Amino acid sequence: MKSFVMGIDFGSTTTKTVILDLKGKLVASCVESQGSISAEGSRASMAGALAQAGITQKDIARAVSTGYGRRMIEVADQSYTEITCHARGAIAMFPEARLVIDIGGQDSKVISVTGDGLVQQFAMNDRCAAGTGKFLEALARAVQVSVEEMGALAMTSTERLVVSNMCATFAETEVISLLAEGKSKPDVLGAVHAAIASRTAGLVARVGNRNPIVMTGGVAKNHAAVHYIEQELRAKMLIAPDPQIAGALGAALFALDEVAKPSAELIDEEDVVDEAMSTASGCATQPCKTAPKLPANERLLIGPM
Ligand code: ADP
Repeated sequence: MKSFVMGIDFGSTTTKTVILDLKGKLVASCVESQGSISAEGSRASMAGALAQAGITQKDIARAVSTGYGRRMIEVADQSYTEITCHARGAIAMFPEARLVIDIGGQDSKVISVTGDGLVQQFAMNDRCAAGTGKFLEALARAVQVSVEEMGALAMTSTERLVVSNMCATFAETEVISLLAEGKSKPDVLGAVHAAIASRTAGLVARVGNRNPIVMTGGVAKNHAAVHYIEQELRAKMLIAPDPQIAGALGAALFALDEVAKPSAELIDEEDVVDEAMSTASGCATQPCKTAPKLPANERLLIGPM
């Protein structure tokens, strides 16, 4: 009996898998790190979630993939872009949210959502490390602390310093110079997080600020990143207990829709959204003037948690 659906978010840094039962209840989630885009990481994430749920792939009625490596997931019946799935997952976590800020390993995106849960505008940077988890990873390495501890250290900063370069390579040189001048690690890390917050605020400005804001992606687990972005936007953000699984949750909710309405026409939104995304990508990101036209069955109806 196929009584579950699966959502897989194959990202640049981690693969996230979510399994829901057919009532939409979350029964398992698994985040697995991968050195680079690799099938092993995604397999381990799916296997971890299946083991947690105590089921096998045969029990999955439908699987939907998203993320950088979405087309590499062989078990996926369908795949949707990150914008679609992250918005869906974030709004399922916090139905009241009107703006989604997602910062992952290799991209950052800001998505505005209408009251009925439709994607309205988005801006995305996925062409360089500026303002992404990779930026933080590179600078954590430069300061010789782990990504997990860099946030806590930054929160103890007492002197306001500035890291002005958003290019990870140049920022690394700046960070090393500050350390060589005798500046403390917490103060240098404070400046690093302030830089990422300023970059994020730039993306928000392109889409148009709205409240409430939900933050998702692995960087939402970094308390300093959250703190500095909140300061920059002068607003508190909503953060789920596991913000990293938003994209996989959105994908699983689409799988659930498709099980509930098997006759629904599946329109491949990839081309439509990818085209819009390519105009919205890059360091000098411009928001797309018109929101990607999502097919009817892609409407971001709020799914059960
Ligand atoms: P992707 O979807 O591109 O694989 P993720 O959403 O998984 O990316 O985010 C990965 C990023 O999240 C890492 O680059 C790192 O900066 C950050 N991150 C992940 N886990 C933690 C943690 N426990 N503490 C702080 N930052 C984290």
